[in-house]
Amino acid sequence: MSHSTPNGKEIRDTIIIGSGPAGLTAAIYTARGNLKPLVIEGYAAGGQLMTTTEVENFPGFKDGIMGPDLMMEFRAQAERFGAEFITKDVTQTDLSGDVKKVWVDDELYLAHTVIISTGASANYLGLENEQRLIGRGVSVCATCDGFFFGGKTVAVIGGGDSAMEEATFLTKFAQKVYIIHRREGFRASAIMLERAKANPKIELMVNKVALDVLGDEKVTGLLLKDTQTGDTSKLDIDGLFLAIGHTPNTKLFNGQLKTDDQGYILTSTDKTNVTATSIPGVFACGDVQDHHYQQAVTAAGSGCAAALDAEHYLEALHN
Ligand code: NAP
Repeated sequence: MSHSTPNGKEIRDTIIIGSGPAGLTAAIYTARGNLKPLVIEGYAAGGQLMTTTEVENFPGFKDGIMGPDLMMEFRAQAERFGAEFITKDVTQTDLSGDVKKVWVDDELYLAHTVIISTGASANYLGLENEQRLIGRGVSVCATCDGFFFGGKTVAVIGGGDSAMEEATFLTKFAQKVYIIHRREGFRASAIMLERAKANPKIELMVNKVALDVLGDEKVTGLLLKDTQTGDTSKLDIDGLFLAIGHTPNTKLFNGQLKTDDQGYILTSTDKTNVTATSIPGVFACGDVQDHHYQQAVTAAGSGCAAALDAEHYLEALHN
Protein backbone atom coordinates (compact mmCIF):
# COMPACT_ATOMS: atom_id res chain seq x y z
CA MET A 1 0.00 0.00 0.00
CA SER A 2 1.51 3.33 -1.01
CA HIS A 3 0.88 6.59 0.90
CA SER A 4 1.88 10.18 0.32
CA THR A 5 2.93 13.23 2.34
CA PRO A 6 0.68 16.35 2.51
CA ASN A 7 2.65 17.80 -0.41
CA GLY A 8 2.00 14.71 -2.49
CA LYS A 9 5.35 12.94 -2.19
CA GLU A 10 4.98 9.20 -2.34
CA ILE A 11 5.73 7.19 0.80
CA ARG A 12 6.66 3.69 -0.22
CA ASP A 13 6.16 0.62 1.89
CA THR A 14 9.77 -0.40 1.61
CA ILE A 15 13.12 0.68 0.26
CA ILE A 16 15.90 -1.90 0.02
CA ILE A 17 19.46 -0.58 0.05
CA GLY A 18 21.92 -3.02 -1.53
CA SER A 19 21.57 -5.81 -4.06
CA GLY A 20 23.56 -8.87 -3.05
CA PRO A 21 21.84 -12.15 -2.17
CA ALA A 22 20.28 -10.58 0.96
CA GLY A 23 18.84 -7.48 -0.71
CA LEU A 24 17.57 -9.29 -3.78
CA THR A 25 15.94 -12.03 -1.72
CA ALA A 26 14.24 -9.32 0.34
CA ALA A 27 13.17 -7.79 -2.99
CA ILE A 28 11.68 -11.08 -4.25
CA TYR A 29 9.70 -11.60 -1.04
CA THR A 30 8.50 -8.01 -0.61
CA ALA A 31 7.57 -7.82 -4.31
CA ARG A 32 5.58 -11.04 -4.03
CA GLY A 33 4.00 -9.59 -0.87
CA ASN A 34 2.81 -6.66 -3.03
CA LEU A 35 4.97 -4.12 -1.18
CA LYS A 36 6.35 -2.77 -4.50
CA PRO A 37 9.92 -2.50 -3.20
CA LEU A 38 12.32 0.09 -4.49
CA VAL A 39 15.79 -1.46 -4.63
CA ILE A 40 18.61 1.06 -4.66
CA GLU A 41 21.12 -1.42 -5.95
CA GLY A 42 24.23 0.75 -6.05
CA TYR A 43 26.79 1.21 -8.81
CA ALA A 44 28.43 -2.05 -7.69
CA ALA A 45 25.14 -3.90 -8.11
CA GLY A 46 25.02 -7.57 -7.22
CA GLY A 47 27.51 -7.41 -4.36
CA GLN A 48 30.52 -9.60 -3.79
CA LEU A 49 29.33 -12.54 -5.91
CA MET A 50 29.84 -10.34 -8.96
CA THR A 51 33.58 -10.79 -8.42
CA THR A 52 33.41 -14.53 -7.85
CA THR A 53 33.82 -17.26 -10.42
CA GLU A 54 32.06 -20.53 -9.77
CA VAL A 55 29.73 -20.84 -6.78
CA GLU A 56 29.60 -24.52 -5.87
CA ASN A 57 27.68 -24.38 -2.62
CA PHE A 58 24.50 -22.48 -3.47
CA PRO A 59 21.74 -25.09 -3.12
CA GLY A 60 19.86 -25.94 -6.28
CA PHE A 61 22.84 -25.71 -8.65
CA LYS A 62 24.40 -29.15 -8.48
CA ASP A 63 26.93 -28.35 -11.22
CA GLY A 64 27.75 -24.92 -9.76
CA ILE A 65 26.90 -21.53 -11.22
CA MET A 66 29.02 -18.46 -11.97
CA GLY A 67 28.58 -15.73 -9.32
CA PRO A 68 27.41 -13.00 -11.76
CA ASP A 69 24.96 -15.43 -13.42
CA LEU A 70 23.49 -16.31 -10.03
CA MET A 71 22.96 -12.63 -9.23
CA MET A 72 21.33 -12.02 -12.63
CA GLU A 73 18.87 -14.80 -11.82
CA PHE A 74 18.12 -13.26 -8.41
CA ARG A 75 17.53 -9.84 -9.99
CA ALA A 76 15.35 -11.14 -12.81
CA GLN A 77 13.24 -13.01 -10.28
CA ALA A 78 12.72 -9.83 -8.22
CA GLU A 79 11.88 -7.83 -11.37
CA ARG A 80 9.39 -10.45 -12.46
CA PHE A 81 7.31 -9.68 -9.36
CA GLY A 82 7.52 -5.91 -9.80
CA ALA A 83 10.58 -4.77 -7.83
CA GLU A 84 11.86 -1.40 -9.08
CA PHE A 85 15.58 -0.70 -9.36
CA ILE A 86 17.78 2.38 -9.20
CA THR A 87 21.37 1.69 -10.24
CA LYS A 88 22.98 4.41 -8.15
CA ASP A 89 24.42 4.70 -4.65
CA VAL A 90 22.43 6.02 -1.72
CA THR A 91 24.15 9.21 -0.60
CA GLN A 92 22.39 9.97 2.71
CA THR A 93 19.79 8.54 5.07
CA ASP A 94 17.63 9.77 7.93
CA LEU A 95 16.05 6.75 9.59
CA SER A 96 14.83 8.51 12.73
CA GLY A 97 11.16 9.29 12.06
CA ASP A 98 8.18 7.06 11.24
CA VAL A 99 8.80 7.96 7.61
CA LYS A 100 12.36 7.04 6.64
CA LYS A 101 14.30 9.32 4.30
CA VAL A 102 16.73 8.00 1.71
CA TRP A 103 18.60 10.28 -0.68
CA VAL A 104 20.21 9.42 -3.98
CA ASP A 105 22.12 12.61 -4.77
CA ASP A 106 19.42 15.33 -4.65
CA GLU A 107 16.51 12.94 -5.05
CA LEU A 108 14.66 12.08 -1.82
CA TYR A 109 12.76 8.80 -1.43
CA LEU A 110 10.42 8.12 1.49
CA ALA A 111 9.35 4.79 2.98
CA HIS A 112 7.73 3.30 6.06
CA THR A 113 10.40 0.61 6.19
CA VAL A 114 14.02 0.35 5.08
CA ILE A 115 15.82 -2.93 4.57
CA ILE A 116 19.59 -2.51 4.79
CA SER A 117 21.66 -5.04 2.85
CA THR A 118 24.78 -3.07 2.02
CA GLY A 119 27.15 -5.97 2.67
CA ALA A 120 30.80 -5.70 3.59
CA SER A 121 34.01 -4.66 1.81
CA ALA A 122 37.46 -6.22 1.76
CA ASN A 123 40.02 -4.97 4.28
CA TYR A 124 43.48 -3.67 3.50
CA LEU A 125 46.55 -3.92 5.73
CA GLY A 126 47.37 -0.21 5.76
CA LEU A 127 50.95 -0.69 4.48
CA GLU A 128 52.78 2.36 3.25
CA ASN A 129 52.85 1.39 -0.43
CA GLU A 130 49.68 -0.70 -0.53
CA GLN A 131 47.16 1.81 -1.92
CA ARG A 132 49.65 3.14 -4.50
CA LEU A 133 50.15 -0.38 -5.87
CA ILE A 134 46.47 -1.35 -6.12
CA GLY A 135 45.92 -2.48 -9.70
CA ARG A 136 49.71 -2.76 -10.07
CA GLY A 137 49.96 -6.09 -8.33
CA VAL A 138 48.01 -5.47 -5.12
CA SER A 139 44.51 -6.92 -5.20
CA VAL A 140 41.67 -8.00 -2.91
CA CYS A 141 40.06 -10.18 -5.56
CA ALA A 142 41.90 -13.20 -6.94
CA THR A 143 38.99 -14.14 -9.17
CA CYS A 144 39.06 -10.66 -10.75
CA ASP A 145 42.81 -10.29 -11.16
CA GLY A 146 44.32 -13.80 -11.03
CA PHE A 147 44.31 -14.03 -14.80
CA PHE A 148 47.04 -11.37 -14.99
CA PHE A 149 49.52 -13.52 -13.10
CA GLY A 150 50.13 -16.33 -15.57
CA GLY A 151 53.50 -17.98 -14.77
CA LYS A 152 54.20 -15.45 -11.96
CA THR A 153 54.83 -15.70 -8.22
CA VAL A 154 52.20 -14.30 -5.89
CA ALA A 155 51.43 -14.15 -2.18
CA VAL A 156 48.10 -14.34 -0.41
CA ILE A 157 47.87 -12.87 3.08
CA GLY A 158 45.37 -14.41 5.51
CA GLY A 159 44.54 -17.64 7.25
CA GLY A 160 40.81 -18.01 6.66
CA ASP A 161 38.73 -19.75 4.01
CA SER A 162 39.10 -16.78 1.66
CA ALA A 163 42.90 -17.06 1.73
CA MET A 164 42.74 -20.81 1.02
CA GLU A 165 40.18 -20.37 -1.74
CA GLU A 166 42.05 -17.51 -3.39
CA ALA A 167 45.42 -19.26 -3.16
CA THR A 168 44.01 -22.47 -4.66
CA PHE A 169 42.35 -20.49 -7.43
CA LEU A 170 45.56 -18.57 -8.15
CA THR A 171 47.47 -21.79 -8.82
CA LYS A 172 45.53 -21.99 -12.10
CA PHE A 173 47.67 -19.10 -13.31
CA ALA A 174 50.66 -18.51 -11.06
CA GLN A 175 53.65 -20.87 -10.93
CA LYS A 176 54.05 -20.30 -7.18
CA VAL A 177 51.65 -19.10 -4.49
CA TYR A 178 52.70 -18.27 -0.93
CA ILE A 179 50.10 -18.15 1.82
CA ILE A 180 51.38 -15.81 4.50
CA HIS A 181 49.73 -15.99 7.88
CA ARG A 182 50.46 -14.14 11.09
CA ARG A 183 50.18 -17.14 13.41
CA GLU A 184 50.35 -20.95 13.38
CA GLY A 185 46.65 -21.72 13.82
CA PHE A 186 44.34 -21.32 10.85
CA ARG A 187 40.78 -20.06 10.87
CA ALA A 188 40.12 -21.84 7.57
CA SER A 189 37.94 -24.96 7.51
CA ALA A 190 39.87 -28.23 7.51
CA ILE A 191 38.82 -29.20 3.99
CA MET A 192 39.99 -25.92 2.46
CA LEU A 193 43.23 -25.87 4.44
CA GLU A 194 44.00 -29.46 3.40
CA ARG A 195 43.25 -28.69 -0.24
CA ALA A 196 45.69 -25.79 -0.16
CA LYS A 197 48.36 -27.80 1.68
CA ALA A 198 48.07 -30.61 -0.86
CA ASN A 199 48.63 -28.26 -3.78
CA PRO A 200 52.28 -28.50 -4.92
CA LYS A 201 52.30 -24.88 -6.09
CA ILE A 202 51.32 -23.55 -2.66
CA GLU A 203 53.77 -22.87 0.16
CA LEU A 204 52.52 -21.88 3.59
CA MET A 205 54.52 -19.36 5.61
CA VAL A 206 53.36 -18.91 9.20
CA ASN A 207 54.23 -16.43 11.95
CA LYS A 208 54.96 -13.76 9.37
CA VAL A 209 53.56 -10.25 9.07
CA ALA A 210 53.99 -7.89 6.15
CA LEU A 211 55.83 -4.67 6.92
CA ASP A 212 55.45 -3.26 3.42
CA VAL A 213 54.82 -4.16 -0.20
CA LEU A 214 57.67 -3.20 -2.48
CA GLY A 215 57.80 -1.94 -6.04
CA ASP A 216 57.84 1.30 -8.06
CA GLU A 217 55.63 0.78 -11.09
CA LYS A 218 54.43 -2.66 -10.02
CA VAL A 219 54.79 -5.08 -7.13
CA THR A 220 58.21 -6.71 -6.92
CA GLY A 221 58.37 -7.94 -3.35
CA LEU A 222 57.12 -8.09 0.18
CA LEU A 223 58.97 -7.07 3.30
CA LEU A 224 58.21 -9.60 6.04
CA LYS A 225 58.84 -9.85 9.74
CA ASP A 226 58.95 -13.12 11.64
CA THR A 227 56.77 -12.72 14.73
CA GLN A 228 58.81 -15.29 16.69
CA THR A 229 62.35 -14.13 15.95
CA GLY A 230 61.77 -10.52 14.91
CA ASP A 231 63.88 -11.15 11.78
CA THR A 232 62.95 -9.30 8.62
CA SER A 233 63.22 -10.74 5.12
CA LYS A 234 62.31 -9.88 1.56
CA LEU A 235 60.14 -12.19 -0.55
CA ASP A 236 60.22 -11.70 -4.32
CA ILE A 237 56.66 -11.65 -5.67
CA ASP A 238 54.79 -10.19 -8.64
CA GLY A 239 51.40 -9.96 -6.98
CA LEU A 240 49.94 -9.55 -3.50
CA PHE A 241 46.41 -10.71 -2.71
CA LEU A 242 44.81 -9.69 0.57
CA ALA A 243 42.30 -12.03 2.18
CA ILE A 244 42.14 -10.60 5.68
CA GLY A 245 38.44 -10.21 6.19
CA HIS A 246 35.89 -7.52 5.59
CA THR A 247 34.40 -4.36 7.06
CA PRO A 248 30.63 -3.82 7.00
CA ASN A 249 29.38 -1.02 4.74
CA THR A 250 27.63 1.11 7.35
CA LYS A 251 29.03 4.60 6.73
CA LEU A 252 25.64 5.73 5.44
CA PHE A 253 24.03 5.03 8.79
CA ASN A 254 26.82 6.25 11.07
CA GLY A 255 25.55 7.01 14.53
CA GLN A 256 21.95 6.13 13.68
CA LEU A 257 21.92 2.38 14.36
CA LYS A 258 23.43 0.29 17.13
CA THR A 259 26.41 -1.72 15.91
CA ASP A 260 28.85 -4.14 17.50
CA ASP A 261 32.46 -3.14 18.15
CA GLN A 262 33.44 -4.14 14.60
CA GLY A 263 30.71 -1.95 13.09
CA TYR A 264 28.28 -4.71 12.11
CA ILE A 265 24.65 -3.64 12.57
CA LEU A 266 23.11 -5.22 15.65
CA THR A 267 19.86 -7.04 15.04
CA SER A 268 17.25 -8.35 17.42
CA THR A 269 17.54 -11.48 19.55
CA ASP A 270 13.74 -11.86 19.30
CA LYS A 271 13.38 -15.04 17.27
CA THR A 272 10.21 -13.72 15.60
CA ASN A 273 11.86 -10.47 14.45
CA VAL A 274 15.51 -11.40 13.88
CA THR A 275 16.35 -8.65 11.39
CA ALA A 276 14.95 -5.75 13.43
CA THR A 277 17.58 -3.10 14.18
CA SER A 278 17.64 -0.55 17.01
CA ILE A 279 15.24 1.66 15.00
CA PRO A 280 11.64 0.47 14.46
CA GLY A 281 10.91 0.00 10.76
CA VAL A 282 14.57 -0.50 9.86
CA PHE A 283 15.72 -4.05 9.16
CA ALA A 284 19.18 -5.38 8.31
CA CYS A 285 20.17 -8.56 6.51
CA GLY A 286 23.20 -10.21 4.94
CA ASP A 287 26.87 -9.48 5.62
CA VAL A 288 26.23 -5.98 7.01
CA GLN A 289 24.88 -7.66 10.16
CA ASP A 290 26.69 -11.02 9.98
CA HIS A 291 30.40 -11.36 10.49
CA HIS A 292 30.22 -15.05 11.19
CA TYR A 293 28.53 -17.04 8.41
CA GLN A 294 28.97 -14.65 5.46
CA GLN A 295 27.61 -17.10 2.92
CA ALA A 296 25.41 -16.32 -0.08
CA VAL A 297 22.79 -18.74 1.18
CA THR A 298 22.75 -17.39 4.75
CA ALA A 299 22.56 -13.85 3.37
CA ALA A 300 19.63 -14.88 1.18
CA GLY A 301 17.96 -16.51 4.17
CA SER A 302 18.29 -13.36 6.24
CA GLY A 303 16.97 -11.30 3.30
CA CYS A 304 13.85 -13.45 3.35
CA ALA A 305 13.52 -12.91 7.12
CA ALA A 306 13.93 -9.12 6.66
CA ALA A 307 11.13 -9.07 4.08
CA LEU A 308 8.80 -11.01 6.39
CA ASP A 309 9.74 -8.83 9.38
CA ALA A 310 9.09 -5.67 7.35
CA GLU A 311 5.76 -7.10 6.18
CA HIS A 312 4.66 -7.76 9.78
CA TYR A 313 5.73 -4.26 10.81
CA LEU A 314 3.71 -2.74 7.96
CA GLU A 315 0.65 -4.83 8.78
CA ALA A 316 0.70 -3.46 12.34
CA LEU A 317 1.29 0.09 11.03
CA HIS A 318 -1.51 0.07 8.46
CA ASN A 319 -4.15 -1.61 10.65
P1 NAP B 1 38.25 -14.63 8.22
O1 NAP B 1 37.76 -16.00 8.45
O2 NAP B 1 37.90 -13.56 9.19
O3 NAP B 1 39.84 -14.73 8.12
C1 NAP B 1 40.61 -13.58 8.01
C2 NAP B 1 42.06 -13.99 8.13
O4 NAP B 1 42.87 -12.84 7.94
C3 NAP B 1 42.39 -14.55 9.51
O5 NAP B 1 43.20 -15.68 9.38
C4 NAP B 1 43.14 -13.41 10.19
O6 NAP B 1 44.15 -13.85 11.05
C5 NAP B 1 43.77 -12.71 9.02
N1 NAP B 1 43.95 -11.28 9.28
C6 NAP B 1 43.00 -10.38 9.65
N2 NAP B 1 43.55 -9.17 9.78
C7 NAP B 1 44.87 -9.31 9.52
C8 NAP B 1 45.96 -8.42 9.52
N3 NAP B 1 45.80 -7.13 9.79
N4 NAP B 1 47.16 -8.91 9.20
C9 NAP B 1 47.34 -10.22 8.90
N5 NAP B 1 46.34 -11.12 8.89
C10 NAP B 1 45.13 -10.66 9.20
O7 NAP B 1 37.82 -14.04 6.80
P2 NAP B 1 37.56 -14.82 5.43
O8 NAP B 1 38.62 -15.80 5.15
O9 NAP B 1 37.31 -13.73 4.45
O10 NAP B 1 36.21 -15.62 5.69
C11 NAP B 1 35.04 -14.92 6.12
C12 NAP B 1 33.85 -15.89 6.16
O11 NAP B 1 33.52 -16.30 4.84
C13 NAP B 1 34.13 -17.16 6.95
O12 NAP B 1 32.96 -17.54 7.61
C14 NAP B 1 34.46 -18.17 5.88
O13 NAP B 1 34.15 -19.49 6.26
C15 NAP B 1 33.56 -17.71 4.74
N6 NAP B 1 34.13 -18.14 3.44
C16 NAP B 1 33.72 -19.34 2.96
C17 NAP B 1 34.20 -19.80 1.75
C18 NAP B 1 33.71 -21.11 1.22
O14 NAP B 1 33.18 -21.90 1.99
N7 NAP B 1 33.83 -21.38 -0.05
C19 NAP B 1 35.13 -19.05 1.03
C20 NAP B 1 35.55 -17.82 1.56
C21 NAP B 1 35.05 -17.39 2.77
P3 NAP B 1 43.78 -14.49 12.48
O15 NAP B 1 43.26 -15.85 12.18
O16 NAP B 1 45.08 -14.49 13.19
O17 NAP B 1 42.77 -13.57 13.10
